[in-house]
Amino acid sequence: MSRQRIYYFDNNATTRVAPEVLDAMLPFLRDHYGNPSSVYKFGSQTGHEIKKARAKVAALLNAAPGEIVFTSCGTESNNAALHSALATHPGKRHILTTAVEHSAILNHCAFLKKQGCEVTFLPVDADGSLDLHLLDKSIRPDTALVSVMWANNETGVVFPIEEIAAICHSKNTLFHTDATQVPGKMKMDVKALDADMLTLSAHKLHAPKGVGLLYVKRRTNFQPYLLGGHQEHGRRAGTENVASIVAFGRAAELALDHFDLENTRIRALRGRMEDAILAGIPNTVRNGAREPRLPNTSNIAFDFVEAEATLLLLDQIGVCASSGSACTTGSLEPSHVLTAMGISPARARGCIRFSLGIYNTEEEVDHLLKHLPQIIQKLRDISPAGAKTKG
Ligand code: PLP
Repeated sequence: MSRQRIYYFDNNATTRVAPEVLDAMLPFLRDHYGNPSSVYKFGSQTGHEIKKARAKVAALLNAAPGEIVFTSCGTESNNAALHSALATHPGKRHILTTAVEHSAILNHCAFLKKQGCEVTFLPVDADGSLDLHLLDKSIRPDTALVSVMWANNETGVVFPIEEIAAICHSKNTLFHTDATQVPGKMKMDVKALDADMLTLSAHKLHAPKGVGLLYVKRRTNFQPYLLGGHQEHGRRAGTENVASIVAFGRAAELALDHFDLENTRIRALRGRMEDAILAGIPNTVRNGAREPRLPNTSNIAFDFVEAEATLLLLDQIGVCASSGSACTTGSLEPSHVLTAMGISPARARGCIRFSLGIYNTEEEVDHLLKHLPQIIQKLRDISPAGAKTKG
């Protein structure tokens, strides 16, 4: 593994495990390996630790512990929400979602279409916002579920989830939100929000990969996605990932404790970084509404360069960031989110997402700002389109 210093600006992809979180989980990998379903204390004690973790993640959401179902990841939670809504409403075969959801919703919806369901993908406008009037009109008597993400992972654009939940409930329709990018960045209160189901993934908040949750509002009919044992009160079978669940609980506690301080600091750091890039590098634009937006995310179009080339040069100076593009079988497909916002393929292929986190420092931003203008200039010098802009 490389020992190069890392400047990590990809916290929407995943986050570093907090040292406090690692300390909390290690005993459950090393010593307390009993199965929580066992009758002897060595096992059942781990069950008590799951109970404590459940209370902690519930507190992060202002939910009741009984409303939390631990899963293996955000993807599973999203799949489980879609599955449950259809399974509990056999007469309803329509799903309403948006064109900018994570692939954990979009690809499951593509599968459901093949199974005979109808799916409506709501468009977004140029700054990534939804037309709520259109959303309202698109809910049908046979809509089993409306699933709209709380905040977009590529642009950070935040949707008005409370209003959307109210529209859905005025039509007696279930509402799920993929809130994977939200914890630690915005206050979360499921009681105020009134969503029926909500997805989180622990690795976005300084806990390890491979554990997530689905919040299921009390008295919501639920049909499990994974069938087997009686774990999670019969709502998700499979021996619990005890160490990671404990870690999730600790990470939720930290996110609550440090929220105000970190959130203000990260927002300011992101603002400084974004303003300096937009002012200092010509032919750059921010993608997505300035507000409401996650405080840590900045998606910027660098015209006349390919994002993949920028990322490779950033990598050489230890900077980790993401492109808005997904690489599919060797051909560069522009991001579906940016495409849905009407951004041209040429521009979309030059977009970079910088996503900050609690461990980023002023000095790291200085490092990025020092090198980025030269990197972009270098790439424009060798690009035919970039050369033309110099006349
Ligand atoms: N939803 C959103 C908005 C995400 O950003 C991600 C992760 O990138 C997921 C779902 C999937 O989460 P996981 O990686 O835990 O499956």
